[in-house]
Amino acid sequence: MIVVKFGGTSIGDADAIRRAADVVASRARRSPVVVVSAASGTTSELLALAEQASRGHLIGALRSVEHIRERHMQMCDTLLRGIPTGPDTAAEIAAMCDEIASLAEALATLGHITPRSLDAVACFGEQMSSLLVTEAFRARGITAQHVDAREIIVTSDHFNAAEPRPDAITDRARDRIAPLVRSGIVPVLGGYIGATESGITTTLGRGGSDYTASLLGAALGAEDIEIWTDVDGMLTADPRVVSNARLIPQIRFDEASELASFGAKVLHPNTIAPAVRRGIPVYIYNTRNPLESGTRITFDAPRRAVTAIAAKGDVTMVKVSAPRMLLAQGFLRSVFEIFERHRTSVDVVSTSEVSVSVTLDDASRLDELVVDLRMLGDVSVERDRAIVAIVGSGIGDRGDCMGRALRALGETHVYMVSLSATGINLTVVVEGPSMHDAMRALHAEFFSPGSAQ
Ligand code: ADP
Ligand code: ASP
Ligand code: MG
Repeated sequence: MIVVKFGGTSIGDADAIRRAADVVASRARRSPVVVVSAASGTTSELLALAEQASRGHLIGALRSVEHIRERHMQMCDTLLRGIPTGPDTAAEIAAMCDEIASLAEALATLGHITPRSLDAVACFGEQMSSLLVTEAFRARGITAQHVDAREIIVTSDHFNAAEPRPDAITDRARDRIAPLVRSGIVPVLGGYIGATESGITTTLGRGGSDYTASLLGAALGAEDIEIWTDVDGMLTADPRVVSNARLIPQIRFDEASELASFGAKVLHPNTIAPAVRRGIPVYIYNTRNPLESGTRITFDAPRRAVTAIAAKGDVTMVKVSAPRMLLAQGFLRSVFEIFERHRTSVDVVSTSEVSVSVTLDDASRLDELVVDLRMLGDVSVERDRAIVAIVGSGIGDRGDCMGRALRALGETHVYMVSLSATGINLTVVVEGPSMHDAMRALHAEFFSPGSAQ
């Protein structure tokens, strides 16, 4: 049994869904379980229209609902023509659009939005796509069956970034999905969405369909997890920024995990953990280029000094200075307890004799954090920073990576530098607008032909 996940562009129009069906058909003998994202752009549109409605702009929000409806109806028309159950599926999807419109109206009346209601709207992207894809697969002769992911992916009630409950997921996957697979049926589920024990809809956070795939893979003891997307695999940098980025045929779990955490959007950062726990290889493939060998993520990929460069922007830097306190026992603990209390994770840390600096990528609780941190010392906040990470399992073994990286960055203003204790991640914090140039400079240093690795 394998889990096969298709991202938004891989099911974004009728042709793409046909290509996805071909992929699934080609894996029929391996008993695929399919996970799909929302059609590309739909989740962003849903989140935007929910916000818009809550600000009282109902007409604009309803226009977006109609845009979503039209797009899905068009795909139904093309893919389900002549299928006996096609009209029912189209009607079901249309009814979901009516439901989105009702939710938008309710939000406009209330005049405000909560994380819970955002999830209630956002879930429709995957609800619609999974239903449509199931029916389109049937039209291509695949015995597919839709399974509502909210009945399988049990999560906490931490809306917008819910934490999965692996034991409950395993029980439900064994009860509901495994029997389908045993009878030769291809279950199709929407990624990204889940529900609490009591059935309230949640989501796993943006890009979370990859995570759904690995949660299901681990729950079902899959042989492989395949992530089908719009690039040939994991590359040495984001190809949208570095045009000559190269394919990485094999990469280790820990490196892939670091890259995902530091901005390589091709994989959701949480995808690796469930796969690692069960030792399940994760593959990344291109739906437009299915014969390309892709990337294989496992424990035993070859060690390289530098494997890839990743970056993420919109990072906030917080510096706490407490000249008299820093060396006192328990000071750092007090600082990190405050971040924990506000459920804010910290990415890069550096300390000096008199200060500690950290970066946050989620600054939504910054105001409360600053109030508490001020009890410990002077606090300064710098926004619009970016983290650029150089990842490679041999960085720690080689002494020259840091020097080469800083030389390559030349005049770029570097605010923080940090080498992870495991020696696989060297991060620098730069100004937001310098992020892409920094990536290109570092990529040229470590990956141009003939450069030492
Ligand atoms: P999907 O909708 O299939 O989940 P995403 O947009 O989430 O696709 O992820 C694929 C995108 O990730 C690529 O188009 C690419 O721009 C970006 N990306 C960022 N870093 C990398 C990297 N190191 N290797 C490959 N793709 C990357
Ligand atoms: N549809 C969701 C998003 O756009 C989840 C995903 O695509 O993985 O964030
Ligand atoms: Mg994605």
